[in-house]
Amino acid sequence: MNLKTPQEIELMREGGHILAEILDVLVASVKVGIQTKELDSMAQELISARGAKPSFLNYNGFPATLCVSINEEIVHGLPSERKLKDGDLVKLDLGILYKGFHTDSARSVIVGSTQRLQIQKLIDVTAEALCVGIKTAQPGKTLGDVGHAIHEYVKSQGFDVVRDLIGHGIGTEVHEEPEVPNYGKPGHGPILKLGMVIAIEPMVVMGGYRIANGPDGYAYITADKKLSAHIEHTIAITGNGPEILTK
Ligand code: MG
Ligand code: MG
Repeated sequence: MNLKTPQEIELMREGGHILAEILDVLVASVKVGIQTKELDSMAQELISARGAKPSFLNYNGFPATLCVSINEEIVHGLPSERKLKDGDLVKLDLGILYKGFHTDSARSVIVGSTQRLQIQKLIDVTAEALCVGIKTAQPGKTLGDVGHAIHEYVKSQGFDVVRDLIGHGIGTEVHEEPEVPNYGKPGHGPILKLGMVIAIEPMVVMGGYRIANGPDGYAYITADKKLSAHIEHTIAITGNGPEILTK
């Protein structure tokens, strides 16, 4: 496993902060009628204006900078001429390469101003699941502890987590060891060590956790077409505990 030095974590902290600022702008730009490829163009411009590079463009053949996944799409949705509609649940997932290191983060938002209580609950539970996972990621704990804490919390709220898509280590590569599932057995899996940097990214579903391939050829969707939310932070395990780098 690839542990990072404090100097490397400092670079990732800088990159993570830039990524968070870019996501703030993108989230504020989500509105009824915008094409998802417009959000992708904005992401490209914002990234190059900050001297960074997109992590996902051409990664495993993905032809865009930003992943935009809507409603039953879980992750990896391809930006297109499709327009956002009132009440859509949109997930924006973005990675950037800055000074040699990748950071990765995702947000979930509801399009428009109409109250959607069940969708908002799904987003709130996903956000809290990520918080629970991060709080559990203390040095000496295991990734099984982290996944277990996320899954138990999500189940307690009446939802479930996707099994086939998981978080990951991150650094000079966007996907590094270890795997970071959103489920697990306490005490099992790799032990969290100082200098580990991981992306924790619960994908929380209203229905069943089984997934299928989406019609755009890139997105994964829920097999039952029910809604899915996704929120992600890149975090470092430091002497002071887990630190969110993408804020
Ligand atoms: Mg991501
Ligand atoms: Mg990720």
